[in-house]
Amino acid sequence: MNKVKTILLAAAMMLSLAACSSQQSGNNSEQPAAKNTQTGNTDTQTENDRETIYQVALLQSLTQGYYDGIIKVSELKKHGDIGIGTFEGVNGEMIVLDGKVYQALGDGTVQEADDNETIPFSNVTFFDKDGSVELSDINNINALKEKLNAMVEEKGKNLFYFIKINGTFNIMNVRSEIKQEKPYKSLDKALETDQREFNYDNIDGTVVALYCPDYMGGLNTPGWHFHFVSDDKTKGGHMLDLKFDKATAEYDTTPSFEMCLTDNNVFQKMELAKDVTDAIKKVETNEE
Ligand SMILES: [Zn+2]
Repeated sequence: MNKVKTILLAAAMMLSLAACSSQQSGNNSEQPAAKNTQTGNTDTQTENDRETIYQVALLQSLTQGYYDGIIKVSELKKHGDIGIGTFEGVNGEMIVLDGKVYQALGDGTVQEADDNETIPFSNVTFFDKDGSVELSDINNINALKEKLNAMVEEKGKNLFYFIKINGTFNIMNVRSEIKQEKPYKSLDKALETDQREFNYDNIDGTVVALYCPDYMGGLNTPGWHFHFVSDDKTKGGHMLDLKFDKATAEYDTTPSFEMCLTDNNVFQKMELAKDVTDAIKKVETNEE
């Protein structure tokens, strides 16, 4: 198996890098030996796998226009039951919830993604609730970020968090995008013409969000990234704004990070250290 694995130990955190491709999916019996070196205990192995943020490629490669799928949906499901991301050709926003992978398409509809659909960018983990925060009178996305940031400051700002907030939302503003054809444009350019926004009132559903620590700026984006799917799984997308009276945010703290890359030639020629912070801010928030 053409797999390169580097283990970096930083404080108590384990960061690992894996090269992978969709060709490898379906034959994933090989376990990373390095994770067993401390105890050789299979229980520890299982725990480690559940407590890892698994990332496909970089937000920076997606932002620069690398939209080819790197792994299949069926493979992604082995690494988590909650998550966010997108699909080949940025064909909609991904919401992973309770082990199911939902695809919020550019026309505003949601479908369960096919197992053979491929993924250019995603973050998933297995959700094991570590705690919860009661939220009330949240009038916009910045008020939500403020409350969640206070929680992160208290629990530890240098870990990863996945949260889910199930409730009734007075306002839910989401976006998705139309599938792109090659040659691919950068994501900010694609969204200029092909982003579609949807505004819902009094909708029941779940916000799924990832928090990345500040030092993740080169691989992802620091802070919060929110997606949404309705309880009836018919509406969803990348969340731009919201308002709600009362809901509980359940959180899962995660101390490990694993990243999956591709040996694809186009990907290998990309300048991934290029600063695309402004473009990321634009595609995440609609702000210039
Ligand atoms: Zn998003």
